[in-house]
Amino acid sequence: MRIKKKNSDLIKIIIALIILVLVAGYFILSKSAERIHREEAKRAEEAAAEEAAQQQAEEEAKEQERLAKIAEEKNKWYLILVNNQNAMPDDFDIETAEVEDGYYIDSRVLEALQEMLADCRDAGYSPRLISTFRTRETQQYLYDHTANKADTAVPGHSEHECGLAADIIDAGSLGWADPLIDDQEDMPAQKWLMEHCQDYGFILRYPKDKEDITEIIYEPWHYRYVGKEHAETIMSNGLCLEEYIENFEDYYQAQ
Ligand SMILES: [Zn+2]
Repeated sequence: MRIKKKNSDLIKIIIALIILVLVAGYFILSKSAERIHREEAKRAEEAAAEEAAQQQAEEEAKEQERLAKIAEEKNKWYLILVNNQNAMPDDFDIETAEVEDGYYIDSRVLEALQEMLADCRDAGYSPRLISTFRTRETQQYLYDHTANKADTAVPGHSEHECGLAADIIDAGSLGWADPLIDDQEDMPAQKWLMEHCQDYGFILRYPKDKEDITEIIYEPWHYRYVGKEHAETIMSNGLCLEEYIENFEDYYQAQ
């Protein structure tokens, strides 16, 4: 009986030891698994943060590139803003070419203007150039001799001096005492030009309802070259060039 009791105690001790080892083992393993899990989570977190930072840097670089493109486009020769507040630069350089009948325009605009006039004629109308490029001297002469100085740009402030503008009337109004009046808008060639000018990169520069901004009377004959893309945006949004340039970043979506 005593031996049996001893054996039984021994077995109990062994079992207790085994349980202790198992519990300790489980405890050690679970702690280790927990540590590994924590490290993995930390690494994943770091990788995600790194990826987010990289993505943000890429987006910022992309945005910078977009803004640089916008700024570059805004400075292109065909978007120059010349008005009472903005004189053309002193070093403005221009190469002109003859459109027709002794009328000259910036040579880079020549093709667009000739195409617009030709298509207008093909459609059955009679557009007639009456003023295109003007030298500083001509602008000075016009300014000095005009009855109403408010209607004529101060020398150095006229788009005609930049070679980017053309005054076009309907030949049917040539006999009028003054063809440069609002009624010009009802003439067939003018209607066609006002409807299609943007397809050739031109805008009607001084719209009827923008006189407060342009500080120039409504001129349904003065077309200004700005390039097709800009002309389409300006005309379809009913803007004048001043408004377009001021809000250029909103309208021009450089990709
Ligand atoms: Zn004009």
